[in-house]
Amino acid sequence: MTRADAIEQLSSREFDLLVVGGGVVGASVAAHAARLDLSVALVDAGDFGGATSSASSKLVHGGLRYLRLGDVRLVREAHYERRILTTVVAPHLVQRTPFLLPLYEGGPYRPAVVQSGIVVYSALARSRLHWLVGPDRARELVPQLRMGGLRSCGLYADATTNDARLCLANVRAAAEAGACVLNGAEVVALRSLDGRVTGAEVRVDGESVAVGARYVVNAAGPWVDHVRRLEDPSAGTSVRLSSGAHVLVPASGDWQAALTIPYDPVRVTFAVPWCGMLLLGTTDDPFDGDPADVQPTPESVGQVLDEASVAIEPSLVTADRVRAAFAGLRVLPAGDGESVRARRETVFTRGPGGMLSVAGGKLTTYRRIALETLSRLRTDLELHRLDHRPWPLPGAVHPGAVSLPIELEPDVRRQLLHLHGSLAREVLAPAREDPTLLERLHSDGPDIAAQVRYAATHEWARNAEDVIRRRTTLFYRGLDGPEITARVNELLVVV
Ligand SMILES: Cc1cc2nc3c(=O)[nH]c(=O)nc-3n(C[C@H](O)[C@H](O)[C@H](O)COP(=O)(O)OP(=O)(O)OC[C@H]3O[C@@H](n4cnc5c(N)ncnc54)[C@H](O)[C@@H]3O)c2cc1C
Repeated sequence: MTRADAIEQLSSREFDLLVVGGGVVGASVAAHAARLDLSVALVDAGDFGGATSSASSKLVHGGLRYLRLGDVRLVREAHYERRILTTVVAPHLVQRTPFLLPLYEGGPYRPAVVQSGIVVYSALARSRLHWLVGPDRARELVPQLRMGGLRSCGLYADATTNDARLCLANVRAAAEAGACVLNGAEVVALRSLDGRVTGAEVRVDGESVAVGARYVVNAAGPWVDHVRRLEDPSAGTSVRLSSGAHVLVPASGDWQAALTIPYDPVRVTFAVPWCGMLLLGTTDDPFDGDPADVQPTPESVGQVLDEASVAIEPSLVTADRVRAAFAGLRVLPAGDGESVRARRETVFTRGPGGMLSVAGGKLTTYRRIALETLSRLRTDLELHRLDHRPWPLPGAVHPGAVSLPIELEPDVRRQLLHLHGSLAREVLAPAREDPTLLERLHSDGPDIAAQVRYAATHEWARNAEDVIRRRTTLFYRGLDGPEITARVNELLVVV
């Protein structure tokens, strides 16, 4: 469906469900609802995954830290989701990764406590990978591990992902199941009849489009209360926000594990080998500004680098090695106390006109949050059954099981299969006619021109930023300068 077709459909059809917000939660709500044969519209003010769902630590994890905070239920649920994401839902995008937790003399944790914590964590995960390993074995797994004062390391398993692409895969699942999806489409007002919400006014390309729907789900992430107040101007505050910054530096050496760096008794920070780079972070600072303004500050970048140097050789994490930095907003239940101790719970509220709002939780549990959202609308939508069984997202395949029709350099092939899974064949198809599409966009990264074409034809990319930040890995490698932007724009214009 072209953008014009989607706009036409939005204005002419009456939908069962309108989902406001195409982050991972809204996209998954739309996909699950469309698979139940409901007529669904999904709109996002900016780009799909353009807010929190591309600014996470990119971990699909139980969260060892939450166990320490006593949230056993969250850890158990998250582990279940991690297992099915790595096996059924998106094995190309979500990959099991060993994690080391280094324990230094004078550090915040005692080895015996860590060891028992990891045993419980691994039991909840049904994982057999959990040991304390000595410094030499740890150094084999992480060549740049700081060795001074290292006593031992906890070793356990979690998973990592590409969050923006996981979100896009859900948008695609929604579209394949018949949903009408549109980015650059902001809900600016709600429509109502006899006190009931019956749709929304959506601002698209400078025009106002009236969308009719029997029910509306507000999955606007950090803007959740803003959208709630479109329904009820007196609605109170349901959530609070906390910003988290991340930094990418080039990886050095062959990292076979990620690091969970114990920074203080409650907070950890991560160093994750990710797409050939090292992803560092994050911070946790209360935020009460406009969500659109969240940015990594020089202080937050400095903090991330300083904290990483607790466990990584300091020469690897200096300011001049930073290739990219980004920040996002955690959505936490409203309340007092330190945000770092706040439970990562999902907040559901129902407005007087019937709109259901959903916010918070974790990327890891997005599927469970989407199903819970639909179960709260079960009676309204006359859903007789809600099937919780996991199903594969488009492209889902173990990367090793795909054969490609074109010979590619190993890093290009690896990245294509990781980002697109079995759809990599579709991405490469136009390159049979036009081999220039196999060219790298930059000699320092594996992204190729065919990905830009595909982003425009199959992935709703509207401009160079959508491609550079969320469809490819160019931004994260620091390859987002004017030359690349011009090249991406050239490729987009041809479409
Ligand atoms: C720093 C940080 C690190 C994190 N790390 C992890 C991690 O490692 N693992 C993990 O499991 N979780 C992690 N999380 C949590 C995870 O990222 C979020 O739970 C998840 O991305 C939330 O998705 P969402 O769809 O609710 O919100 P969002 O992704 O924020 O989506 C909301 C969407 O609504 C749209 N929108 C807003 N207003 C409107 C409107 N009026 N009209 C139309 N659209 C609108 C926005 O454009 C946006 O795209 C982290 C979060 C942060 C901030």
